[in-house]
Amino acid sequence: MMKLGIFGNPVAHSKSPLMQNSALKSLAINGFYDKYLLLDGSKIKEEFKKLDLNGANITIPHKEEAFKNADEVRGIASKIGAVNTYVKEDNKIVAYNTDAPGFMKAIEEFGEIKSACILGAGGTARAIAVALKDANIEVTVINRSREGRLEFFENLGCTCYTTDELLSLSAIHYPLSTIIINTTSAGLKDDLLPVPKELLKQLMKNTKFAFDCIYGKITPFLAMARELNLRYKDGKDMLLYQGVLALELFLGTKITQSTIKQMDKCLK
Ligand code: NDP
Repeated sequence: MMKLGIFGNPVAHSKSPLMQNSALKSLAINGFYDKYLLLDGSKIKEEFKKLDLNGANITIPHKEEAFKNADEVRGIASKIGAVNTYVKEDNKIVAYNTDAPGFMKAIEEFGEIKSACILGAGGTARAIAVALKDANIEVTVINRSREGRLEFFENLGCTCYTTDELLSLSAIHYPLSTIIINTTSAGLKDDLLPVPKELLKQLMKNTKFAFDCIYGKITPFLAMARELNLRYKDGKDMLLYQGVLALELFLGTKITQSTIKQMDKCLK
């Protein structure tokens, strides 16, 4: 029997078990995907082995610890410094980041993207910025704080501002972009905008598409995009595709559209 799961803290709210178990069922695979509350991220490898898992996903706040503890890191994850997927291969743990390609897949329907404006500079922003830069897309990052946050993006070749730095410029110097992406948690459990209203309005006037990593609700960020007639979407497809790509890594094979549709239904 294939044993899979997700580590996080908190983890009770995660939709991954629902999504992955429905996929296993539709593929007639004898396996189960469970949730595991993990308080101490530095114990992740130990726990993975103790539970005798074949694969796992890792969510907040353990993606960086998971990166440090893996036996081997593959692909884009080594540039990001965080992983959300562990796969047992022989006797070692191989780690990947499927958030980054999951995001790129989610924005495919917007067509060609030349430049992106990312709000926020946490772990999700890092994954997205690396994926966009790898696709030769120009990236601007705006975060409310600088210390320990913006250096990573500057080293990656992104243009970076704190919100206050941008506010001190005249609006003609605000970045132009094809897409604006909210990676902050503003709007997740509150009614906040990621940056002050007038600034966001101007940034949205300078772009075509809006994407919020938060899923399942119209955040104040998405409400403004709608008001300004931008094409927009929430983070549901990012969640879906990171799960699809993780499942393909667990199984070592591509999965079909009908299974992807089945997984998608669980997120509605
Ligand atoms: P982090 O804690 O690593 O980063 C949070 C970022 O948000 C920081 O840049 C922080 O700024 C900023 N921030 C937080 N609150 C505010 C606020 N009120 N106003 C302005 N900025 C704020 O979080 P993650 O990167 O892990 O996650 C970010 C979001 O992405 C979450 O909402 C999460 O649910 C979502 N997500 C969605 C996924 C999907 O598949 N759809 C996958 C992963 C995440 P500062 O640096 O100043 O503290």
